[in-house]
Amino acid sequence: MYRLSDAGMDAPTLAERMARVIAALESRLGPFPYPSYGIAEAPDDIKGWYAASQQTFIVARASAFGYDHGNTPLWAHEASHAWWGNLISAEGEAGLMVSEALAQLGVLIALETTEGDDATARFLEFSRSGYNSLQSAAGYFHIWRQGGDKPLSELADDRWDHNLSDSKGMWVYHMLRHRVGDRVFFGVLRDIIQQRRGGAVSLADLRAFFLRASDDPGLAEFFAQWLDRAGAPVLDLDWWATRDPDGTRGVHLEIAQTQGGEPFTIDLEIGIELDTGERITRTIALADARHSIDVATGGGRPVRVELDPRRLVLMWRPAYGPRPEPTAD
Ligand SMILES: [Zn+2]
Repeated sequence: MYRLSDAGMDAPTLAERMARVIAALESRLGPFPYPSYGIAEAPDDIKGWYAASQQTFIVARASAFGYDHGNTPLWAHEASHAWWGNLISAEGEAGLMVSEALAQLGVLIALETTEGDDATARFLEFSRSGYNSLQSAAGYFHIWRQGGDKPLSELADDRWDHNLSDSKGMWVYHMLRHRVGDRVFFGVLRDIIQQRRGGAVSLADLRAFFLRASDDPGLAEFFAQWLDRAGAPVLDLDWWATRDPDGTRGVHLEIAQTQGGEPFTIDLEIGIELDTGERITRTIALADARHSIDVATGGGRPVRVELDPRRLVLMWRPAYGPRPEPTAD
């Protein structure tokens, strides 16, 4: 750790945190590919960049250090480039989904390890201070509203592409991990690292690795809808409490997909809060533009309904800014 100032988190605390982050990455991806890792502070008057990573160290402007939360996402993203970008380079179309989006996945691993699931979900939604605000769900919907959205499999070097890979691309790996489970997900990444170290991998290779490793019959469709088309679900929820003649309470839900184009196929968790303080979670398989369902809640009166309470699906939410215009596709 090479510091010029003592702003933000002090060097020993930051060093200890980064040791935990790298250990967490190693437990999933295998040994850190290089003998050491360092963080160096550069003066703010260096022009042209905020942070840059080499194989064994990252150098960043002084302003990147000035956060009490330690700016873990920045260091974790750059450390993850040791695997994705340095040890293994990207080739073919949409290389950003290998070099960038997988490095961004390292941020999620770092945050869940050092700060927990709520902080990780908050980062997925909004990024945080000291880090690029576009690299989040809110950032993705901003890019969409600006006209910059495109299928991730077509990422190249257009204006928004880098931030698309680190926002929606990050979310796609987050969703894929939840879908196939940690054993398959990180098993595939370790296989790729072992087989391709010193070489290159393409998004098409990555997709093929996952399809070979998983017996999930819906996985090809998952990749097609999240990689080969633009957009994400924009849902309208209407709901009301119900009560049967025998006194059984429940909730009636009507969910409409309003984003345009073919409806998305998603497993959507619904959180239902009851007046008893109890919380019920149901997962519903959405595949149509309109979906209605009744959920029995026993004796408890439903008082609040939340879609995707654990933030497992990339979908528009009011907190992300105005609803994006429906797309033709
Ligand atoms: Zn990067």
